Amino acid sequence: MSVNIVSRLRGSLYGLAVGDALGAPYEFKPRGTYVPTGNMEESSIFTFKGKPLKAGTWTDDTSMALCLAASLNEHRGFIWEDAAKKFVRWNIDGYMSAIGVCFDIGNTTRVALGSYNYQLTHKANKPLVLSGPKDAHQSGNGSLMRLAPVPVFYHQSPKKALQYTSLQSRITHASPVAVQSCLLASLQIVGFVNSEKDTAKARKEEVLASRFVPKGLEGVDIEISEREIVNLWEGEWKSNTVDEISTSGFVVHSHEAALWALWNTETFEEGMLLLLPLGSDVDTVCAIYGQLAGACYGYESIPKRWLDGLQKREILDQVFGTLVELSSQVSDAETTAA
Ligand SMILES: [Mg+2]
Repeated sequence: MSVNIVSRLRGSLYGLAVGDALGAPYEFKPRGTYVPTGNMEESSIFTFKGKPLKAGTWTDDTSMALCLAASLNEHRGFIWEDAAKKFVRWNIDGYMSAIGVCFDIGNTTRVALGSYNYQLTHKANKPLVLSGPKDAHQSGNGSLMRLAPVPVFYHQSPKKALQYTSLQSRITHASPVAVQSCLLASLQIVGFVNSEKDTAKARKEEVLASRFVPKGLEGVDIEISEREIVNLWEGEWKSNTVDEISTSGFVVHSHEAALWALWNTETFEEGMLLLLPLGSDVDTVCAIYGQLAGACYGYESIPKRWLDGLQKREILDQVFGTLVELSSQVSDAETTAA
C-alpha cells in the first residue's frame, strides 16, 4: 500500500479515538455554557472510583471500534456474531475499555447487547439472532460512531465494505436511517482513502460532491433512499450556519455536523475545534468527524499533542496497527469471511 493510503487508514482510526477523547469532557453540556481548551482535558461527566476520568480517556465510541477491529483481525474478516460477542464482553467485563469497565453506553446499544447476552446465556446452542431495533425512532448515532474499522479493513473491496457496513450497523441499530447513514459514511471513508487527488481540498471536492460513488462501485445499486440520508449525500448541509447545526444523538444530525465541519475548515485541527464547543453528544460527533477527517487529511495531520494525550495508547497501536496491516491483504477476489 502506498504511504498516503496507510496514513489515511490510520488517520480514520486514530481520528475517531482523538475526537472521542477530546469531546468526552463536554458530553451532555449545553452549547454556550463552556469554553473548550483545545487540549485533552479530564472529564468530570464520568467518574471512576470517585475520581474524574483522566485527560485523554476514550469512551464507548472507541471501545466498540476496538471490538470491531479486534474481531476483524482475529477472523481476517467480518463475522457479525463475533463482533456482537465482543460488544457484550465490553459491556459486561470491560473488554477494550480505557479503564477496565464499561462506563458509557447508549440506550439502543444497551438493549440490543442485553438481548445478545440473554441469547448467549439461555440459548447457547441456537444461532444468534440480530437484535438491533428497526424502529425509525431508534436512529441514534451508536453504530456510526464506531464504524471506521469496517471501511478501513475493506477499503480495497468497496462492495464488501458496504455489505459488512450494513451488517455492522444492524447489530445494534437496524433502522433504515441508521444503516444508510453508515453506508454513506463508508462510501466517504473509502472514497477519501482511495482518492488519487493530491490535495485535501481536491479530495473533499471529489468525495463530498453530490451523490459521490467511489471507484469500484460504479453502477452498483447503493441502498441510500431515506430522504434525510439522500440530503446528506447531496450536500444540502454545505452552506448551513452554526445555528442550523445540531449535535444531538440523532444519527442524521451527528453525521451532518461532522460533514459540515470537514467541508468548512481546512485542517483536521480546525474542524475539530469548530465542533468542540457545540455540546450535547459532542464526543460522538467529534468521533464521527475524526473518522472522516482522518481519512481525508491522514494521520500526520492529527496534532501530536492530541495523539500523545490518548490513554492506553498501546492498545490502540496494537489493534489498529494490525487492522491496517491486514487490510492490504483484502481484495474483491477473496472468498467472503462468513
Ligand atoms: Mg461516548
